[in-house]
Amino acid sequence: MSATQTFNKGCKVEELRSEKGTNSLLRNSLPNTIFENAGQAIILTDTTGLITYFNPAAQKMLGYTLDEVVLRKTPLIFHLAEEVEERAKALSQESGKDTAPGFEVFIAGLGADRAHAEADWTYVRKNGSCLPVSLNISLLRDDTGAVQGYMGIASDISERYRLEQELRVAAIAFESQAAIMVTDAARRILQVNKAFSRLTGYEAEEAIGQTPSMLKSGHQDAAFYAEMWRQLSETGHWQGEIWNRRKNGDVFPEWLTISGVRNNRGQLTHFVSTFSDISNLKIAESEIHHLAFYDPLTALPNRRLLLNRLDKACASSNRSGHYGALLIIDLDHFKTLNDTLGHDVGDRLLVEVAKRLATYIREGDTAARLGGDEFVIMLENLGLDHEGAGVQAEIVAEKVRTELTRPYTLAGDMEYYRSASIGISLFHGHDKSVDILLKQADIALYKAKDAGRNAIRFFDNAMQTALDERAALEAGLRRALSREEFVLYVQPQVDTERQLIGAEVLLRWQPPNHPMVMPGDFVALAEDTGLIVPIGLWVLDRACAELRRWADDPRTESLFMAVNVSARQFRQADFVSQVADALARHGIKPRRLKLELTESLLLDNVDDVIAKMQALREMGVRFSLDDFGTGYASLSYLKRFPFEQLKIDRSFIRDIMNDSDDAGIVRAIIAMGNTLRLNVVAEGVEDDDQHAYLARHGCCLFQGYLFGKPMSFADFREMLGKRPPAVAKPVIDDWVI
Ligand code: C2E
Ligand code: CA
Ligand code: CA
Repeated sequence: MSATQTFNKGCKVEELRSEKGTNSLLRNSLPNTIFENAGQAIILTDTTGLITYFNPAAQKMLGYTLDEVVLRKTPLIFHLAEEVEERAKALSQESGKDTAPGFEVFIAGLGADRAHAEADWTYVRKNGSCLPVSLNISLLRDDTGAVQGYMGIASDISERYRLEQELRVAAIAFESQAAIMVTDAARRILQVNKAFSRLTGYEAEEAIGQTPSMLKSGHQDAAFYAEMWRQLSETGHWQGEIWNRRKNGDVFPEWLTISGVRNNRGQLTHFVSTFSDISNLKIAESEIHHLAFYDPLTALPNRRLLLNRLDKACASSNRSGHYGALLIIDLDHFKTLNDTLGHDVGDRLLVEVAKRLATYIREGDTAARLGGDEFVIMLENLGLDHEGAGVQAEIVAEKVRTELTRPYTLAGDMEYYRSASIGISLFHGHDKSVDILLKQADIALYKAKDAGRNAIRFFDNAMQTALDERAALEAGLRRALSREEFVLYVQPQVDTERQLIGAEVLLRWQPPNHPMVMPGDFVALAEDTGLIVPIGLWVLDRACAELRRWADDPRTESLFMAVNVSARQFRQADFVSQVADALARHGIKPRRLKLELTESLLLDNVDDVIAKMQALREMGVRFSLDDFGTGYASLSYLKRFPFEQLKIDRSFIRDIMNDSDDAGIVRAIIAMGNTLRLNVVAEGVEDDDQHAYLARHGCCLFQGYLFGKPMSFADFREMLGKRPPAVAKPVIDDWVI
C-alpha cells in the first residue's frame, strides 16, 4: 500500500467523520501523515467506543478494512471475549462496582487522575488468529479540554512473548538433571543450577565467584587442562571424561561438555559447562571388563588377561633385565573328586585354591586360572641372575605346593586332602614368545606329574633334552612291537620254606645292537602314548603261551604266573574278553593266571573296575594289588575290590631292618592283609635278615633277588631242571579263595 493511497483512505475517514461533525478532532490533534505512516496500530473511538479512525498499520495488523469497522464497530471486535470478561471481573472485584465486559473495560480509571492506561491484550484478527499486543489508551480532548474520545495505540509484542517463552524454557532446562555451570571468560563461576549442588555438594553461594578448579580431583595433570583450554579457546567447545571431587572429598567420573558463548564481535564472553555423573556407566563398564578378563568362578584373571600381563611382563623384563617365572599349577586327581563328590564340591575346591593362591603372591604378581583345574602364577622381578631367579621361583612354588596340601573343608565337616603338581619356566625379556613360555611351563608340569605328582619341576635345557629323548623313545617303541623286540622275563616267588610257588612276568625291550631297556624307562611312555595296550596284549599272549608249556611239565604245572596290567590296558572296554581269549587260545586254566593291578586304577570308574574284576574272578583269574602302601587305598576302600593278594612295595622292604617307620608300615600291612583274608607278598627281598623278619611277622610269600633275579623263560626252565619238582602244589591251591 503506497503512502498516497493510505493518505486518501485517511481522507475518507475525515470525510466520514466530518459528516458526523467530529473530524476536527483528528485534524487538530496530530498531523495525518504521522498516523498514516505509524508502525503501530492506531485506533480512535468516540466516547461511546465507536471506532472513528483505523490507521493502515491497524488494518494490516488485524485484517479488517476501514469500511468494516469505522463508524460501525467498537474495538471489542478485536478482543478475545474471555479476556475481556476476565478483566471485567477483576475490575469489579477491585472497585467494588460492577464493570460490564464491554468497552468500559478499556477505559476504566481514565479521566479523573489518569490520561493513559496500558495493558497487554490478545487481539483476534479477522481470520481468527491471535496476536499479543501492548495497548496504550489515552484520552482525546478538544480545545476546551472536554473528552472527545479515545486513542488506542497497539504494538505487536509477539517477539517479546517469544523471548519470554524461550527464557522460561531456558530456565527449566537450566534446572535439568545435568549439572550446569556458567562462567565468565575469566572462568569465574557466575551461575550454577540445583543439579550442580546435588552432584558436587556445593551450594550456589559457595560456588559463585570461584573457578571450576574448586572441583579438581588431581586425577588429571596440568597438561590435560592446558589441552582442554587450548581446544576451548580455539573451537569454543570441549567434551570428555573427567574426574572431579565433591565437597565431601569423593572423587567421581563425569561426562563434561563445555561450550563457549561469544558476543556479537565474536569474543568469548562465557563458558557453559554441563556435566553428569557417570559412575554408574563406569560400573557397567568395569563389569563388562570383568566378564571379559576374569574367571567368573574364582574371580581370578583368566587366560586372556594372563597373556596380556605376560606380554607386558616380558617387555618390562626386557628393560630391567630381571628374570620372571611362570608357574603352572595343576591339582592332582581333580577329576576323581569332581566325579565322586560332584561338580559343586569341585567348584568349591577351585574357589578355595584360588583364594590360597591369591594370598600367596606378592603385589605385582599375577595368579590366574587357565581353565579346569589349571592355575598359573606369574612372578616378576626375580633378579638379574638366572640361578637366583630359579631358586626364588622354587621357593614360591614350594610354598604354594605346601599351602595347597592343607586340608579343605568342602562339604559338611569332612576334611579333604589334595595335592598339586607345579611346572615352572623362567622368562627373560623377549627370549621366548608368550606361547612358548606357557608350553614350556606345561612341559615342566608334565614332568612333575610324571614324578608321581605333588611335585615341582623346572623347564630347562636338560628337560628339553629329556623330551627329545622321549620322542626318540616313542618312535623306537612303535617299531619295537612290529619287529618283535620285546622279551619277557620271569622272577620267582617263594613261600616261607623258599619253595617256588610261581613267578612274575616282567617285560624287557631289546633293541638290536643296543643295551636292554628296562620297563622303568619305557612303560610310563607306553602308557601315555597308548602303546601299552597292544604291548600288554602281546605280553598276555606270550605269558599264556609259556603257561601252556608249564602246564605240560610236572615241575611247573602247579605254578602260577603273575602278569602286570597297566591301568590304561585294564580300562579297555573289551579287556575281560581279551584275557578270556588269550586263556582259551592256549588252553590255560584261568586260576594259573594272576593279574597285578596298581592302586591308581582304583580311583576312577570304580564300578566299572569292580565289574570287570568280578567277571574275571568268576572265570578263576586272581588279582594282586601291586606296590601297596604307596598310593591312596584305604582299608575300607580295598574291601570293595575282589583282590586275593597284596604286594608290599619294595621301597618299604628295602629299609625294613633300619627304618622303624617302614618296619611298622610293613607289619601293619601284613596284619591288615590277614584281617581281610588277603595273602601278602613282600617284593624286593634281598637278604636273609629281611626274609626272616618278614616271616616272623606273618608274611608268607616272597619275591626278590634273594630267591632269584628276573630271567628269561629259558633260564627259568633250566633253573627248574636243576631242582627237584615243586612240592608246594597243595599249598598254592590253599591260597585260592
Ligand atoms: P613291579 O611290578 O613292581 O615289578 C617289580 C620290579 O622290582 C621289577 O623291576 C623287578 O625286577 C624288581 N625287583 C624284584 N626283586 C627285586 C630286588 O630284590 N631288588 C631290586 N632292587 N629290585 C627287584 P622291573 O622288571 O624293572 O619292572 C619295573 C616295573 O615295570 C614293574 O614294577 C612294573 O610296574 C612294570 N612292568 C614290568 N613288566 C610289565 C608289563 O609286562 N606290563 C606292565 N604294564 N608293566 C610292567
Ligand atoms: Ca608287579
Ligand atoms: Ca611292585
